[in-house]
Amino acid sequence: MTELSTMILDRIRDVPDYPKPGVLFKDITPLLADPVTMAAVVDELAGLHEVDKIVGIEARGFILAAPVAYRAAAGFVPVRKKGKLPAATLAESYDLEYGSATIEVHSDAFDPGDRVLIVDDVLATGGTAQAAVELVGRAGGTVVGIAVLMELAFLKGRERLNGVQVHSLVIV
Ligand code: AMP
Repeated sequence: MTELSTMILDRIRDVPDYPKPGVLFKDITPLLADPVTMAAVVDELAGLHEVDKIVGIEARGFILAAPVAYRAAAGFVPVRKKGKLPAATLAESYDLEYGSATIEVHSDAFDPGDRVLIVDDVLATGGTAQAAVELVGRAGGTVVGIAVLMELAFLKGRERLNGVQVHSLVIV
């Protein structure tokens, strides 16, 4: 375990039975409130790849991805839940435990061949990240990696993302 991993792990709070019974929610707000850990996280993520765009996945991914984009001198692109982006979009749906979800990106968000890093807080089943990879590809970007603060290894999200480099600062 690296020093950064320990700092992150110490600042992600487990909240049992949120948002529903049986889910152990990983709350990153203590980490966001700690400027030293937050700066170390942003520096680490900004140094992973040479990129043109950083994609943040709504909503907690935005909080991480925007400062990473600034630090990496890259553009920030939001991937949002259906119906939130104002201009023409591409959409991708994926299955949840019960039902399905749809995420969208502006269809002109990328220049052809843009190198893209996707950022989110937690990788669980990998459904969201996989849909984001599809979206970026369809919109003309090239995904060079996915970066998360925390990967829940027992949900095997990484297996759904084969072919994409997954960077998890902490794996539990
Ligand atoms: P998944 O598509 O299953 O990989 O879920 C990933 C998305 O759901 C991410 O955007 C996370 O923010 C959120 N998420 C899933 N499970 C958790 C959890 N246990 N704690 C916090 N966020 C979670």
